[in-house]
Amino acid sequence: MIKVVKIPLIYAEERNQEDLDYKKVNEILWQLQRQTRSIKNKVIQLCWEYSGFASDYKQKNNEYPNEKDVIGMSLRGYTYKAVSGSGEYDLYSVNMSATTDKAYKEFNNSKGEMFKGNRSIINYNGDQPLELSKQSIYIFSSDEEYKNFYINIKLFNRKAKEKFNLSELHLCFKAFVKDKSTRCILERCIAGEYAIAGSLMKYNRNKKMWQLNLVYDFPASKISKNGKKIFLEGDKILGVFLDYTHPICASVYGDSNSFIVDGDEIENFRRKTEQRRRSLLRQAKYCGDGRIGHGIKTRNRPAYKIEDKIARFRDTCNHKYSRALVEYAVKNNCSVIQMENLTGVSTDNKFLKNWSYYDLQTKIEQKANEYGITVKYLKPTYLTRRCSSCGTIDKEQELTEYFICPDCGKKMTAFYNASQNIAIAKIDEIIKKSLEKSEN
Ligand SMILES: [Zn+2]
Repeated sequence: MIKVVKIPLIYAEERNQEDLDYKKVNEILWQLQRQTRSIKNKVIQLCWEYSGFASDYKQKNNEYPNEKDVIGMSLRGYTYKAVSGSGEYDLYSVNMSATTDKAYKEFNNSKGEMFKGNRSIINYNGDQPLELSKQSIYIFSSDEEYKNFYINIKLFNRKAKEKFNLSELHLCFKAFVKDKSTRCILERCIAGEYAIAGSLMKYNRNKKMWQLNLVYDFPASKISKNGKKIFLEGDKILGVFLDYTHPICASVYGDSNSFIVDGDEIENFRRKTEQRRRSLLRQAKYCGDGRIGHGIKTRNRPAYKIEDKIARFRDTCNHKYSRALVEYAVKNNCSVIQMENLTGVSTDNKFLKNWSYYDLQTKIEQKANEYGITVKYLKPTYLTRRCSSCGTIDKEQELTEYFICPDCGKKMTAFYNASQNIAIAKIDEIIKKSLEKSEN
C-alpha cells in the first residue's frame, strides 16, 4: 500500500561540505524548479508535435505510424533523450527521467480531451515540484537513538556539480520530525521495512521552507478471503474498551468514528431469563411428586436449563460481536487489536460480572488470528481517567457517561475516550511515566 508523508526539510549546513548557505541553496533549488517546468513543457510540445504528425499520417494512410519507424525509438524514450541531450538542465539523470515520464503520462491521459478541443494544451506554470526518483533519496540517522534524521537527496548531474562547485551530487537536509508517526515511518524506511518510492520535493511558500513529500510502500499483509484483498498497516492499532453500558467500544486513535455494540441485548435477555429462573426456583420448593426424591439437581432442573440458555445466548452474542469487531479492524487496516487485560479484575459492576470477558476476548483472539491480526493486552490503569486528547490524567474524575477534560475542556463519551487511550501503543507505560512525573 502506497502512502505519503510530508516532511519539512532544513538545509543541514554542517553536513554539507560545500560553502553554501541556505540562501544560496534556495536559489539553486528554485532554479531546478524552473528547469522542471521547462522540461515538462518541452515534453508536452514534443508529444503534441508528434501527435499532429501521427494524425496527418493517419488521414493519408488510414493507420497510425509506428513510433519506432518514425523516430527510431518510443516517443517516451525520445522525449527523455531530447531533454537530457540538450545539455541545458542540471537535474540528476534519474530524476530527469522521472520528470519527463510525469509529463508524458499527463499528456497521454488528457490527449483525447485536448484533441477534441475540450481542454487546452497542458501548460505548466509557476514553480513545479521536483520529481525525485527512489534512487535519489537516502535517509539516515546521525545517532543510534534515532534522535536526528537526515536525508541526502541527489539533485544534480555531474555537469551541474561542477557548475555549482559542489563536492557531491546530493545535498543533505535535516528532517523536521514533528510527530511520532513520522518518526516511526522514517525509522522503518531506514530499517528497510518500508520501501521508498518516487517522491516530490517542493517549496512551501507560506512556511518559506522546503518540503519532502515522501512516498513509501509498506508491506501490507495480503490475505485473500472471499476473494478480497486485505491490507493491514504495520502500526495501526484498534483500541477496544469493554464498558458497562456499552460492552464493546473500539476506535483507531485520532478517528472520530468508532465501533459500538450496545450491551442491552444481553442485559435484557439476562434480566428476562433471570426473572423466570427465580420464579422457577420458587416453584421448585413447592413442586409436585415427580421432582421430589431425586436430589436437588432434578428438583431444580428447569432453573439450570435457564442457566444453560443464558450461557448459550451469551456464547452466540460473543461470536457475533467478536466477528463484527474483527471485521471492523480489517476494514480499518489495523494490524493490532489492543484491549485491557481484565483477568482477575474485580468489579463492582454487575453487568461486567455477568458478562464473560474471558470468553469474548478469547473469541476476538481466535478471529483476529484468522486475519493475521495481533491481539495485545494492556494493564488497566486510569485508561478511563486520561484525556485521550491532551494526556491529562484526572484521578478524581467520576465515571459517568461523558469524560470532560479539566485541562483542555474536551468532552467525549467516556467509552470513546477510553477506547482512544487504548488505541495508543504502550499507553500503560506512558500513563505510568506521567503519573511518576506528577508525583515528583
Ligand atoms: Zn484534555
